[in-house]
Amino acid sequence: MTVLKVKDIIKVPLKELLAKLTTAYVDELGATYQYWVGAKIIQGSGRTTVASELNTHAQEELSHAESIATRIIQLGGQINIYPQDWHKKAGCHYKAISSTKIITVLKENLKGEQCAIEFYNGLLNFTQGKDHVTYSIIEKILEDELEHEQDIITLLEEI
Ligand code: FE
Ligand code: FE
Ligand code: MG
Repeated sequence: MTVLKVKDIIKVPLKELLAKLTTAYVDELGATYQYWVGAKIIQGSGRTTVASELNTHAQEELSHAESIATRIIQLGGQINIYPQDWHKKAGCHYKAISSTKIITVLKENLKGEQCAIEFYNGLLNFTQGKDHVTYSIIEKILEDELEHEQDIITLLEEI
């Protein structure tokens, strides 16, 4: 019996795929932190409502990191365990929050989502018809990012 390994059924260069997934993984950790710390530090009216949405997003970003890490391991790759490398491997480069104002924090979150959407759209094009499992994982994540983007736009309109 032929045993099909995960590496045999994908038709994209493995090394390149793993590099992209590593970027996605560290970006999701950055996004998790950006939302989590934003929820802690925002000031001003509407703080409670916005903080609760930011905390929900932080949990969702962490679950994206989880799905991506699982896929990296399935593909025989290693997840990056060195926090000092996170910035080096990042694509969307999370920057420190520059103000405790709700509007500023939300605008920075929005930038992060827009970067993620572009990145995942590219990753879908890269894996389409060539790596069905990664494609399906990333498709679900992209749906969440589009929802995040819309949630933030709505919050910005309500301020
Ligand atoms: Fe995410
Ligand atoms: Fe997101
Ligand atoms: Mg939401």
